[in-house]
Amino acid sequence: MSQVQKPAFKEKYENFINGEFVAPVKGEYFDNISPVDGKVFTKAARSSEEDVNLALDAAHEAFPSWSKTSATERSNMLLKIAQVMEDNFEYLATLETIDNGKPIREARAADIPYCIDHFRYFAGVIRADEGTISEHDKDTVSIALHEPIGVVGEIIPWNFPLLMLAWKVAPALAAGCTAVVKPAEQTPTSVICLMELIKDILPKGVLNIVTGFGAEAGEALATSKRVAKLSFTGSTETGRKVMHNAAENIVPLTLELGGKSPNVFFKSVADHDDNFFDKAIEGALMFALNQGEICTSPSRILVHEDIADVFIEKMQERLKAVKTGSPLDPETMIGSQVSKAQFEKIMNYIKIGREEGAEVLAGGEAGNYEGEIKDGYYIQPTVLKGKNDMRVFQEEIFGPVVSLTTFSSTEEAIEIANDTDYGLGAGVWSRDAHELFQVPRAIQAGRVWVNQYHTYPAHAPFGGVKESGFGRENHKMALDHYRVVKNMLISYSKDAVGLF
Ligand code: NAD
Repeated sequence: MSQVQKPAFKEKYENFINGEFVAPVKGEYFDNISPVDGKVFTKAARSSEEDVNLALDAAHEAFPSWSKTSATERSNMLLKIAQVMEDNFEYLATLETIDNGKPIREARAADIPYCIDHFRYFAGVIRADEGTISEHDKDTVSIALHEPIGVVGEIIPWNFPLLMLAWKVAPALAAGCTAVVKPAEQTPTSVICLMELIKDILPKGVLNIVTGFGAEAGEALATSKRVAKLSFTGSTETGRKVMHNAAENIVPLTLELGGKSPNVFFKSVADHDDNFFDKAIEGALMFALNQGEICTSPSRILVHEDIADVFIEKMQERLKAVKTGSPLDPETMIGSQVSKAQFEKIMNYIKIGREEGAEVLAGGEAGNYEGEIKDGYYIQPTVLKGKNDMRVFQEEIFGPVVSLTTFSSTEEAIEIANDTDYGLGAGVWSRDAHELFQVPRAIQAGRVWVNQYHTYPAHAPFGGVKESGFGRENHKMALDHYRVVKNMLISYSKDAVGLF
């Protein structure tokens, strides 16, 4: 099948502030390298504190009127954004692939549809959402009203640039907040190109994008006293810093951080002579989705010792059929890592795994290609067999590398699953009703997939426990992060209380 054609890019992209594209105050830009071929394909604004302040000025100016719009008006604008994304589906999927290195088939199947659905979902729930009224006594009524929290600062990572924008921006705007968003420096372009498509839908200043580096633009946003709420997705290390910033300014924070998610396969997956075992093996291969660059990546496989041999054999067999290479080829299943730095980090972990004595059951090498993509950042999907106390089982690799170990009892499976600092995702695979309920309940994680993995419906709450962060995204409960409750206690009595 022929490769998807690259769109024409501008030489450089500016910030999106107050409904306009504006050059960064210092006039500096940085290279945006496509991991597909390791080549610079455009430049993005290198923003400083001054640019962040301009974006905050715009968001503050827009807030009073935006916060007073009706839920219906905001809902209609979110629906328009979703429609424009749908109308430009192929373009956006291609941008995401060029910026991030993810296979176009994944961008088409997941990133863009989930983005669209997210805007539609929050367009819907904001209209269905009501405050609460309760009667305290025959004369007194309590009304709980939702008010938008204010101007929010949203810092997003590079693994799902458009989807992470949607996860944060859709509930924020639905709730009546205005926003300043800082995309990751590895992937600034798809977000800015989306702004070119939707710039006339929202009033000026409601949504502002400043591109640049974490230590410059990111920190300026996270430390600003003019932000009423922060939402951050990225590494645990940076999340810790952002939490200090939020504490300094006493603003609420949502943190969605790293993970080392266990994917647990019980003996019964092999019990029946139907397709289920194959489904489970595909579930095991989910570690390589998005090249493993997913915070919920099922990067630890725990398999019952009685089925380990046949399980590994089936996995190896299935991996042989996985097509790797140019992410612009619609048949490619594993594309390129996001950057050279990420590529080197992952290769180093494979080396660490070998040094720790892990057995390499598959992969273990870079993907070497000729032609156009020879300078891209490709790694073969890799399976390491070892023990849960190894670094490759404990540290987030964020690449197509899975660490596999065995267990002999349900108790041991739970113990290994929870023996991690993280608690974001988990998978449980079984045909036994007891295991399917009790094991997910016992695993310390915000999301447990049961007999499936890596689905992200807008109406299912998502987030972590332990060092994976706190606060939930998706689901209508995400609205609560973007608003405060105003309680009005009203007396309809004519009589004095009688205390004074
Ligand atoms: P990062 O946490 O440094 O970057 C995420 C976002 O935070 C980016 O927009 C970045 O510019 C911004 N940022 C960085 N420093 C900041 C600061 N001091 N103040 C405010 N914002 C700041 O992640 P990274 O360095 O790009 O990747 C490092 C590792 O993080 C990866 O290898 C991976 O393990 C993990 N990671 C996790 C996720 C996730 O979804 N949980 C996403 C990306 C990376």
